[in-house]
Amino acid sequence: MKEKKFEFNYTVYDSIEELPAEQKKLLKEAREVTEHAYAPYSRFQVGAIAKLSSGEIVKGSNQENASFPVGLCAERVLLATVSSLFPKIPIQSIAISYKSEEQKSDHPISPCGICRQALQEYEGRIREPLQLILGGMEGPVYVIDSASKLLPLAFTSEELR
Ligand SMILES: [Zn+2]
Repeated sequence: MKEKKFEFNYTVYDSIEELPAEQKKLLKEAREVTEHAYAPYSRFQVGAIAKLSSGEIVKGSNQENASFPVGLCAERVLLATVSSLFPKIPIQSIAISYKSEEQKSDHPISPCGICRQALQEYEGRIREPLQLILGGMEGPVYVIDSASKLLPLAFTSEELR
């Protein structure tokens, strides 16, 4: 028997102002696209912006439904949109932000478990690291070099071959 350990490195910036210009621009756009969310039930509006290797920018936001399980997170709306519009062009970075009427948007949020699975599959498919930039409307920002790091011991397409 042996015990194993999983850990990963990520970068924490004190605020958006510390980010390199390109990442700063993406996070600002993610903040803006929270306005496009349809979140009348949770009132938790999430915006996600993808920058593709071609330079294209694609937007996603969470889309809820009165039948709650029908709702989609911003990350999966974004991945489906990118894969439909630009199936051959890899995403380089995704910035994710949020706002809420009930709580302050002053710290980063991470993708939920389902979205981690979707991000991991996308990254495996394009065979390139997908960078995540996570930040609220204010406060610190996390930059994670590869989305798959958020899902250790993932169930992958390899299992189905
Ligand atoms: Zn999610």
